[in-house]
Amino acid sequence: MTKDRLEEIYLLAHEARSHSWLKNPIDIAEALGYKVILSNLKEIPAFCDCNSGEIYISNAADKYSQQILCAHELGHLILDNCNSVSLFDETIDSESEVEANAFAYYLYPKAFVRLNNEDISTGRKFNRFVASLIRYK
Ligand SMILES: [Zn+2]
Repeated sequence: MTKDRLEEIYLLAHEARSHSWLKNPIDIAEALGYKVILSNLKEIPAFCDCNSGEIYISNAADKYSQQILCAHELGHLILDNCNSVSLFDETIDSESEVEANAFAYYLYPKAFVRLNNEDISTGRKFNRFVASLIRYK
């Protein structure tokens, strides 16, 4: 990811945060008009429907993880790097996964306190870190 793209993602996340006085990602997504649906997902923890703007999150994930997953999916929708359906999948090292995780990092920084700043654009390592944050009830 280029420095310019990372800067752009930072600004978009900052703008999204400014739309809601509540600073958690599910409230922010809903304040921006996206529908967040907690659902009984099987294979994947979360995905978004790029056409409808709906975000689906596993109801088996704990509450904090649901916020992180929502931040990631909101990233796909706002960054417009969505390809019909975008998943949360740490095994995909695509640019769109790194971008969605970078968006989540800027939108919900308190989830990322253990991460060093310089790790953000490193792709695989960063995606693994984000995946390691997800916990199940
Ligand atoms: Zn994703």
